[in-house]
Amino acid sequence: MLGPPGAGKGTQARKLAEEFHIPQISTGDIFRKAVQDNTPMGKKAKEYMDSGMLVPDDIVIGIVEERLDQPDVNAGFVLDGFPRTLYQAERLEQILQKKARGIDAVINIRVRRDAIIERFTGRRVCKSCGASYHVKYNPPRRPGLCDACGNELVIRPDDELETVKKRLEEYEQKTAPLIEFYQSRRLLIDIDGDKTIDEVHKSIVDMLRGEEK
Ligand code: ADP
Ligand code: AMP
Repeated sequence: MLGPPGAGKGTQARKLAEEFHIPQISTGDIFRKAVQDNTPMGKKAKEYMDSGMLVPDDIVIGIVEERLDQPDVNAGFVLDGFPRTLYQAERLEQILQKKARGIDAVINIRVRRDAIIERFTGRRVCKSCGASYHVKYNPPRRPGLCDACGNELVIRPDDELETVKKRLEEYEQKTAPLIEFYQSRRLLIDIDGDKTIDEVHKSIVDMLRGEEK
């Protein structure tokens, strides 16, 4: 899943993972869990996350490589928030090549800038399972509690406006070039993200099923 922060990658990745019965691999979720558990990697990642910067490539690639060694990825997987730099994308190709695997499609969610800010300000995430909600567009059934696991919903510390601005800058500088990279490999599927969550999901699934034929 490609797209600026707040575009809805996590929301859509989770729905795709359910639809196709494959795991969602979110590097952001892996880092947040490591921060919560106060591991050495979590401590290092936190320094970057809190300031809205990307975590260094070697740390990210290491955790993805480890995750892709797990047996549950054999039937497929949805990568959410990775790769985010050209170097990560190149390394991912090498990692998959070694396993005789490949990428089927890169979903690029496009969203208007003003809509992105609104998505950030209303975002609430589950402390425990990482599910993402929105106070207006995707409210939980019980206010403040996760539908999936019942745990508490919180505001992400990096959703504060100044940090969001830095994250959007990082996206433009380091991640946006991936659009051309995947276009040149004929893998890019552009999706209009300025629709409801269910409508966006439907267009992604329709495009993916079309690709299969
Ligand atoms: P990302 O993983 O790209 O950072 P999220 O999936 O966490 O983004 O979505 C950001 C916020 O926007 C969340 O609060 C989510 O509930 C909300 N959201 C996601 N998709 C849509 C949509 N199509 N319309 C309105 N709000 C959305
Ligand atoms: P996300 O949950 O995808 O919005 O990611 C939250 C934060 O985790 C980002 O702002 C980065 O600091 C870090 N992060 C997640 N994925 C990556 C990645 N692929 N490369 C570098 N940093 C990442």
